[in-house]
Amino acid sequence: MAKVAFLGLGVMGYPMARHLKAKGHEVTVYNRTAAKAEQWVSENGGRAVKTPRDAAEGQEIVFACVGNDDDLRQVTLGPDGAFHGMGKGAIFVDHTTASAEVARDLYAAAKDKGFAFIDAPVSGGQAGAENGVLTVMCGGDADAYAKAEPAIMSFARASRLMGEAGAGQLTKMINQICIAGLVQGLAEGIHFGKKAGLDIEAVLEVISKGAAGSWQMENRGKTMNQGKFDFGFAVDWMRKDLAIVLGEARKNGASLPVTALVDQFYADVQKMGGKRWDTSSLIARLEK
Ligand code: NAP
Repeated sequence: MAKVAFLGLGVMGYPMARHLKAKGHEVTVYNRTAAKAEQWVSENGGRAVKTPRDAAEGQEIVFACVGNDDDLRQVTLGPDGAFHGMGKGAIFVDHTTASAEVARDLYAAAKDKGFAFIDAPVSGGQAGAENGVLTVMCGGDADAYAKAEPAIMSFARASRLMGEAGAGQLTKMINQICIAGLVQGLAEGIHFGKKAGLDIEAVLEVISKGAAGSWQMENRGKTMNQGKFDFGFAVDWMRKDLAIVLGEARKNGASLPVTALVDQFYADVQKMGGKRWDTSSLIARLEK
């Protein structure tokens, strides 16, 4: 069992930290809004501290799950940032969905100071975090990853080192590229079925058993048909992720025409008031 800290007790971080504690790790938590950290401690035990630096001191592994690149730079390199408290040989594991660039920068900064940095974005959403069944995509050094993997598996059903620093974030970008086009296709299928006057639930039931089947169809098809969009990953977050994807594509020359289009469709959803709707709300702009 390890001495660990968790920075960022949001929708994802709160349950992830809980799983670490439940597996027997010694957990210190930090959250910008301190009341949330206090609540976490009252529910789970452990210790809450006031700054990322305090949280990082004396730990073997420090986990983080904050919003975006800027937030991550703030909790690591900012005044009272965790990197000022990390000990030599410690490991910083970042679960934020961020750019490959910030991952490479923080990897280099950590190496300079004698500790390791692993970019480790997750997939599986709020339910995956609550149930401890996330998928974790990692980038960094193999020896540090091997040491961190058992603790990561406290809240994951799969975790894999994909390559050097940034490779975890690049893998997560592919995850988001695959989701974007797929959800739009599913939205168009359901929209078409409604116009054709078919029983959509019956349609989804039969076609989900064949080549058109997908996780999105299984888990979101019925609710998309019902116009219910409160199932986790928000459109605002997806637009943040797609901005990262499209920025990376500009650098590596990948052609992502559908992803770019779907990003604009999500902008339409935002304008419709759907910033906090989940990503399946693409169907709403077809039906407005
Ligand atoms: P969230 O509920 O908004 O939580 C964000 C957390 O980061 C909060 O604890 C927040 O503190 C903290 N934070 C943000 N900016 C900060 C700053 N500048 N300094 C210190 N703390 C800061 O977000 P979430 O849904 O947990 O998502 C976290 C990350 O996981 C994002 O990168 C997201 O894209 C990714 N992700 C989310 C999902 C999902 O389904 N939600 C799925 C996969 C990946 P406060 O409490 O003080 O605001």
